[in-house]
Amino acid sequence: MYDLVIKGGTVVTSTDSVKTDLAVKNGRISAIGDDLTSESVIDAREKLIMPGCIDSHTHMSLPVGINCSSDDFYTGTVAAACGGITSIIDFSVGDPARSIPEDIRLRMKEARDSVIDYSFHGEVLGWKLGHEEEFREAVEMGITSFKFYTSYAASGRRSDSGILYNAFKEIARLGAVAIVHAEDENLIESILSGMSEQDLGRMENLAVSRPDLCEGSAIDQVAFYAEQTGARLHIVHVSSALGVDRIGFAAERGVLVSGETCPQYLLLTRDVYKGSQGHFFSASPALRESVDQDVLWDALKYGLIGFVVTDHCPFTKQQKEWKGSFLNLPYGLPGVETMLSLLYSEGVEKGRLSINDLVRISSEHCARTFGLYPQKGSISIGADADLVIFDPKVKWVIRAGDLHMNTDFSPYEGREINGKVEHTLSRGEVIVKNGSFCGNAGRGHFIARKI
Ligand code: MN
Ligand code: MN
Repeated sequence: MYDLVIKGGTVVTSTDSVKTDLAVKNGRISAIGDDLTSESVIDAREKLIMPGCIDSHTHMSLPVGINCSSDDFYTGTVAAACGGITSIIDFSVGDPARSIPEDIRLRMKEARDSVIDYSFHGEVLGWKLGHEEEFREAVEMGITSFKFYTSYAASGRRSDSGILYNAFKEIARLGAVAIVHAEDENLIESILSGMSEQDLGRMENLAVSRPDLCEGSAIDQVAFYAEQTGARLHIVHVSSALGVDRIGFAAERGVLVSGETCPQYLLLTRDVYKGSQGHFFSASPALRESVDQDVLWDALKYGLIGFVVTDHCPFTKQQKEWKGSFLNLPYGLPGVETMLSLLYSEGVEKGRLSINDLVRISSEHCARTFGLYPQKGSISIGADADLVIFDPKVKWVIRAGDLHMNTDFSPYEGREINGKVEHTLSRGEVIVKNGSFCGNAGRGHFIARKI
């Protein structure tokens, strides 16, 4: 006897769409086929059944200067579940006074209240040569990817060439993944040095101060170290056509490189900075232009950019209050609750992606990249029953006030959307029912990832 049967929906994978039943037992998918029965049934006729989304780029409870991102691991994962996300990979918070494994142990305590399954990337901050065993120990804890920044020297996050090259060597030896925020900060500094107080007081100059040139330059640098060391490299939040071009250049010569982008780079342009609310859109990389959006959609369709994540790092309007310069803002946007609906509505409905592409870019490819597949990111017998039941016919309008994310701002306020999450299942448990969260704090598990 099955614990639960989802009847009559269209089961969507990265390769197929099949109208059939799906059964769950002991938290896993146990059968897919017609005429399955159980005492507990969800009617999914006219609905899509997809693997829950995997968001490998979130920042819950992240200290940023004097601020902290406004979602903690409870509120942020409730919102994520309501948006159809069933696993997140957040980041440990590095500190030069601690080792990477110590950072991870601390972060595990902060994530205890998560309502969906979670893992972390190990942030590399203040790491020193000769401490290679920190990477090995982290891998043994199930942390198989490590985050580097080529910018943010002011907060101690920037890694320069010696650190990048030597850490990549160890990451290559372990078979782990180096993930990089790629913006060339020397170029940013040189542009900023030519800006007056008045220039800094114009929000739209955020995009001028960190142009696509910076992204391209930093990707070239880290791709070269990946090429020399053999490390697997993943570029986060690729924002520009030039960034896509440089990833392509590296991939063509055999560098093991992948990339992700985010809804904000697919759907927003730098024009939003000119409005009276422009400062609420502060983020880095900065928003680009419509030509960049076109290239990013194409790169997703054809696989040069593997998947979409949120870079969820919400702040309230009060936290983003304008203080006279775009340099005095916390950078980051909310996104976990709206990603899937936006990708369906703007991607599938508008013909930029097939429904099978959507599964690939919101779940499967991410799971493969970060060592979660096929336990996650897959509708197959034995996989975790992490599923989203999605109603493609519901029309709704995004309003920050209607969402669960702990912020009063949405970058997509007023946008009309087709398609909404009806139910979300995590390891077979219905945690979102008819759009309402019904799970418990702390039910999420830490996922030890594999190489
Ligand atoms: Mn970043
Ligand atoms: Mn980020």
